[in-house]
Amino acid sequence: MPNSILKPLPFGLDRTNPSVFVASGSDPYENTSRALGHVDLSPVSGKRVLLKPNAGRAAALGKGITTHPQVIAAAIDAFKEAGAVVAVGESPITGVDTLDAFTQCGIKAVADERECPLIDMDRRPGIMVPIPDGIAIKQIKVCPEVLEYDVIVSIPVMKMHMHTGVTLAVKNMKGCLWRRSKVDLHMLPKIPDWNEKSLDIAIADMASVLIPHLSVVDGTIGMEGLGPSAGTPRELGVVVVGVDAFATDAVACELMGIPVHDIPHLRLGAERGCGIIDLNKIRVSPDNWRDSRQSFELPPQNLSLEFPNVTIFDAQSCSACQASLLLFLRKHGERLFGAKDNKGNTPIAIGKGHESLPPETICVGNCTARLREGRLFVPGCPPVVSEILNACDEYFK
Ligand code: SF4
Repeated sequence: MPNSILKPLPFGLDRTNPSVFVASGSDPYENTSRALGHVDLSPVSGKRVLLKPNAGRAAALGKGITTHPQVIAAAIDAFKEAGAVVAVGESPITGVDTLDAFTQCGIKAVADERECPLIDMDRRPGIMVPIPDGIAIKQIKVCPEVLEYDVIVSIPVMKMHMHTGVTLAVKNMKGCLWRRSKVDLHMLPKIPDWNEKSLDIAIADMASVLIPHLSVVDGTIGMEGLGPSAGTPRELGVVVVGVDAFATDAVACELMGIPVHDIPHLRLGAERGCGIIDLNKIRVSPDNWRDSRQSFELPPQNLSLEFPNVTIFDAQSCSACQASLLLFLRKHGERLFGAKDNKGNTPIAIGKGHESLPPETICVGNCTARLREGRLFVPGCPPVVSEILNACDEYFK
């Protein structure tokens, strides 16, 4: 990649016909070891390797939200065996403590057993880097480790995503953006003359400079429906490994039953030459890899459709706010809004793009703070379910 800000690629890669390896079975450690066994890891000997899982949310193992700890355990062991110095790093979504996230998902336990350091990539100042061919964004602020480590390995969970279709190895690198700069990608104005959302274009922009050296997609327990955090866990029992992150994601999409060309950030990135997504050009092994294929449920198009007694005003919110609101509605919506003696349609607003709102609107999340005057307001970025519940209890008093 000519514009990559990372150290040079240490692995062999046929850029026109990349290889991707799929391993399936009930043991995620064994699947990961087997799939990684197809890649010659010897060039990492003596090098510093950063494993970047998806541990951006404080979520328990088995929910399909965070990378399975046994996948991380196998990756640590494989790279150590190859002679690398290995660390695991994450920059979680706003409001989540990195160590708490690592602990809850089980990654801390397997890393500690192996004396593998865990890095809170937000603790040092971020570094701004240019995106020479950027369309939606011209620069990004990255966590410093991204520039320092010799090898960056993206290890996401196989998940649907309400805004980007899927979130896999390419999109997982957004977790290398420093602190709140991740949110900036959700707040971009529409790009004139482009049909794609600015978020999708921005992720393709990001990928033009920030593409992992190796991708390990964890499909042990993925997530369908309203990912990345409010969907339904889906067990596949697969791990997908490849040097070309786009090719790896394309194979993962196929295993999820999602046409990869329907995923704008992958299509746009591939069109710019960041990688290959045409399955006819990807050498996937073993030959029967499609046996593991399932059909992941797509995310719903509109949250408010599911809650007829609630009107959700959503203007440029990000997935964290939507997920909090959805979890709240799932947990408490029926009790609060199903009652016939409630106040009719309850307006709830999320996102930063509101010019005006009905006076009785409950404003949820820091982005709505500007319109809080005279309204119930739930602070937080993202807001938490218990605080939304308190505000609604107040509303119905
Ligand atoms: S308040 Fe909500 S929409 Fe705004 S940045 Fe935070 S999580 Fe995103």
